[in-house]
Amino acid sequence: MPGALKAAAEALTDFFYPPACVCCSGSVEHREELLCRSCLEKVAPLGGPGHCPRCGMPVQGTEGACTFCKGLGSGLETALSAAWFLGPVPDLVHLLKYQGMHRLALTMARLMARHPAADSVIGPAEILVPVPLYFWRELRRGYNQSERIAAALAGACGKRLETGALARVRNTRTQTRLSAVQRRSNVAGAFRVARPQAVQGRSVCLIDDVMTTGATASACAAVLKENGAGSVAAYTFARAQ
Ligand SMILES: [Zn+2]
Ligand SMILES: [Zn+2]
Repeated sequence: MPGALKAAAEALTDFFYPPACVCCSGSVEHREELLCRSCLEKVAPLGGPGHCPRCGMPVQGTEGACTFCKGLGSGLETALSAAWFLGPVPDLVHLLKYQGMHRLALTMARLMARHPAADSVIGPAEILVPVPLYFWRELRRGYNQSERIAAALAGACGKRLETGALARVRNTRTQTRLSAVQRRSNVAGAFRVARPQAVQGRSVCLIDDVMTTGATASACAAVLKENGAGSVAAYTFARAQ
């Protein structure tokens, strides 16, 4: 469609169907924006002063003995997240994961790229590896939401996306209602490195939508290290508690 005609068609569409925020239906300034300013301001960033540099959580107890870090696998150098799973964030994750709203992956990746944590996790990474879904789940959903986020993040940060390196070899129960111990056994043995040559000697940054106890990222990091990855960090859009 010629440019002028496309602009006219968009103006007409905007008149009858004004672009609206995906979370609150409030108005957005540009049709490309999915979130209104008010919802964007409610996205609470994780980390900062008084937070653990390895996991981004508020440090509890004595320094060097972060409670959250104790549950992370030794293969994970850092496990950081851009935002708390609060305010509009659960809706954003749900819309990307279950409602097919792919464009939200770009919104999430932009927030992740702008967060100061990106310097320590994305900066040194040679490859970005999305946490894989079991093939059957990906087939049913039609896509892997973590892969969408990782692809957008790779584009925003000029990093290489490596999608076929890691595979989920068995389906796992949804982790929502599981305790930390149950989560660890739920994902134990769930991942394998499908292409060791893609990770050998490389600095890997795992990408996922949400981290809760870090059990999934820890299980992925363990197999990546076993297969010769130089270092493994994890970066997720959201951190749930
Ligand atoms: Zn809104
Ligand atoms: Zn920590």
